[in-house]
Amino acid sequence: MTTANNIQRDGENESAWQAGLNASISKVYDNKADILYDCLIVGGGITGLTAALLLQNAGKKTIIAEAHSVGFGTTGGTSAHINTFADTTYKQAESAFGEEGAQLFADAINEGFALIKSNIDDYRIDCDYESKPGYIYAEDEKQDQQLDEIYEGSLKVGIAVQYAEQVPTPVPYTRALQFDGQAQFHPLKYLQGLQKAYLAAGGIIMENTKIEKLDSGDGIHVAEAAGVSVRAKKVIYATHMPPNINVFNFECAPYRSYVMAVKLKSGKYPDALIYDMQDPYHYVRTHTIEGQQLLLVGGLDHKTAHEDPEKAFADLEKYIRKYYQVSSVKYQWSSQYYIPVDGLPYVGQMPFAADGVYCATGYNGNGMMLGSVSAKILSDLVLGKANAYADLFSPSRLKPIDGFSEFVKENADVAYHFVADRINIHETDSLQRIKPGTGKVVEVDGEKIAAYRDEDGVIHALSPVCTHAKCIVNWNSSEKTWDCPCHGARYDIDGTVLTGPATKGLPKITG
Ligand SMILES: Cc1cc2nc3c(=O)[nH]c(=O)nc-3n(C[C@H](O)[C@H](O)[C@H](O)COP(=O)(O)OP(=O)(O)OC[C@H]3O[C@@H](n4cnc5c(N)ncnc54)[C@H](O)[C@@H]3O)c2cc1C
Repeated sequence: MTTANNIQRDGENESAWQAGLNASISKVYDNKADILYDCLIVGGGITGLTAALLLQNAGKKTIIAEAHSVGFGTTGGTSAHINTFADTTYKQAESAFGEEGAQLFADAINEGFALIKSNIDDYRIDCDYESKPGYIYAEDEKQDQQLDEIYEGSLKVGIAVQYAEQVPTPVPYTRALQFDGQAQFHPLKYLQGLQKAYLAAGGIIMENTKIEKLDSGDGIHVAEAAGVSVRAKKVIYATHMPPNINVFNFECAPYRSYVMAVKLKSGKYPDALIYDMQDPYHYVRTHTIEGQQLLLVGGLDHKTAHEDPEKAFADLEKYIRKYYQVSSVKYQWSSQYYIPVDGLPYVGQMPFAADGVYCATGYNGNGMMLGSVSAKILSDLVLGKANAYADLFSPSRLKPIDGFSEFVKENADVAYHFVADRINIHETDSLQRIKPGTGKVVEVDGEKIAAYRDEDGVIHALSPVCTHAKCIVNWNSSEKTWDCPCHGARYDIDGTVLTGPATKGLPKITG
């Protein structure tokens, strides 16, 4: 799917960041199969661009392959908070990885934060960066207790925090924490700034190049995309989730998250980043987009393809209207992120892959800082340099006991879909009952079909079997995509892959 200004995006809804931004500025790549690159970076989001720039500046000959256009993935659909705290609290990190692990995690978050800021300063990136106070507030006794734990955990790892006297929110709260010196920015303006710096340093970006295959031998990796093959000494999968079946399918769960940008009648917008502690949670911040001040409110996360996205938007809007006088909804969008079973990201040598094939995934909702610091870890690994966080985030780390119950929960769910989706017939509606503009998995002559009827009444029929691990896809009515409930692969109405881990599209079914 493409915006009016030719920016590609991974669903029907355009994020506020994609609106009004000029199309990509990548160089057209003249395929020279004889070049041996020092490093191929697969994926042009915050992780890929940051890593590529670090390596190119370190004198390495690098190339980025992006399946769509730079910023197509979750970096184009993020809410772009930059924080010193994370979804996995420091207390949780301590209980799973010990005091030292929690301290390193905090250091990594801070380093990611600092790397964003130094890139903005060094490359003079005009990306609406602003420093703001952050507030987390509790609404009942149980949350008060959790808040106290966040306070203690943060202090223990040296993160500045205090109990807030007042929070700029209309929501009644019991107590709150204040983290000074948080930040926000425009993620795609930042990405374009990195892109410019990378190209200026001699880097190459191939857009519309989806890597589908990687062969390795004699220390050289050959990556194949349609009509293109790239040879490199090292490969980084900066694809948010590495493609195809891999160990991360069982260690990270895909989640869909929602954001709305609204105009307020009062014209008064909070000058802060504000979060509640509900499950799923809400957050609120302000951003001026295209000259208009807007309130960004997000949250209501759920496992991909497990709940109704239209209901999520309706619930989010209801929540916003309960507390704010809204004059209009300007943008609404959703995107996907991955929750790791034990709370920390997986960054480093990819398990079961050839030496020198690296990846980074499982950032939870903290990929601005964790994507940036992962880029530093991966670039250090490529450069043969030691990195303080490499062991903590290593994908081959042993799973701590605490993560085990969560691991079982996530995978019981996946196992259910593996089996149930293929044995039970959930939908028996005939094709005729599909309304224009909607899709459904239906059964026709005993065969399941993912069918979408377009506005002209034409049926687009696909195999509903996800090409990644053979689960059955679900219709996402808001983004008009087919989403897999097992590992989060997503496809457009013609079956083209929008989000991995699948690399092959859903086959078309013709009558
Ligand atoms: C709604 C929402 C709000 C969020 N808010 C925040 C926040 O406030 N702060 C924060 O820190 N984090 C936040 N996050 C998380 C953060 O946005 C992500 O973790 C981060 O953007 C991931 O960046 P990435 O570069 O790793 O992946 P992506 O941005 O997804 O980039 C991966 C790229 O790889 C490409 N790709 C995939 N497969 C292939 C292939 N085979 N060949 C070539 N290219 C390929 C894709 O097209 C894509 O462009 C949020 C996430 C969501 C969903």
